[in-house]
Amino acid sequence: MPEVTRFAPSPTGWLHLGHAYAALFAHEAAAGQGGRFLIRIEDIDGTRARPVYEEAIFEDLAWLGLAWEQPVRRQSDHFDDYRAALAKLEALGVLYPCFCTRREIQDEITRAGNAPQGPDGPLYPGTCRNRSMAEREERIAAGETYALRLDVEKARACVPQDIVWKDHVHGTFKAQPAVFGDVVLARKDTPASYHVAVVVDDALQGITLVTRGEDLLPATHLHRLLQALLGLPVPEWRHHRLITDEHGKRLAKRDDARSLRSLREAGWTPQQVRDAVGSA
Ligand code: GLU
Repeated sequence: MPEVTRFAPSPTGWLHLGHAYAALFAHEAAAGQGGRFLIRIEDIDGTRARPVYEEAIFEDLAWLGLAWEQPVRRQSDHFDDYRAALAKLEALGVLYPCFCTRREIQDEITRAGNAPQGPDGPLYPGTCRNRSMAEREERIAAGETYALRLDVEKARACVPQDIVWKDHVHGTFKAQPAVFGDVVLARKDTPASYHVAVVVDDALQGITLVTRGEDLLPATHLHRLLQALLGLPVPEWRHHRLITDEHGKRLAKRDDARSLRSLREAGWTPQQVRDAVGSA
């Protein structure tokens, strides 16, 4: 079956060699086999996304020799889709408002000592999970800002015990979404978290094979749970290696020296980029 893949960069900096590898990988997994290759602009975090970086994404990918389908989906054009997904989760009773500041969470973690660690750091200690409905309503009515968190235990109880997901490189996994604890799925300055947006978008775009870096492999446990809760189709995954610098450190957007832009200005050809990152 020909695959539908996507490359989903965030326009928060210049693309670097790691992005080139990810884009070539997604392209190869689809277009190379008669499938479809899409691009998605992940600009849900409006505080960091810039139009100039979005334009540069298209320019750099075209320079690399890639072609993709139009129109390109831009997350900031589809907030209603993410709101609808959150409303569905809300209706299932698996979200709760969290009023904690970062500071309060940190203090609580220090107080409790030995807080369990997730892939992204210490887990949320659950301070707001058991607040009464009356207190929640009162605080919201008083204008307090809040984030929406997933009550992961409740969510787990809403779906079959054994939800699995398949990665073409790493094998088949039984979903372990609790490793992230009660994650934030929306906050006041972002209408939905990456986790919500990505599962909604992949479903709406008909993605059959999600290709992305290994750093996001743990997040897939949570994505699989969200797909089950939202009744979304389940793609397969191919998490690929990350491109690192000569010290073995993964490239970051602020690492300007390896941006495709500076390499191009330094006279690199698209073929040299392909050779530098290795085959997909
Ligand atoms: N926007 C994410 C990033 O730039 C990619 C997420 C994904 O492919 O699922 O790292």
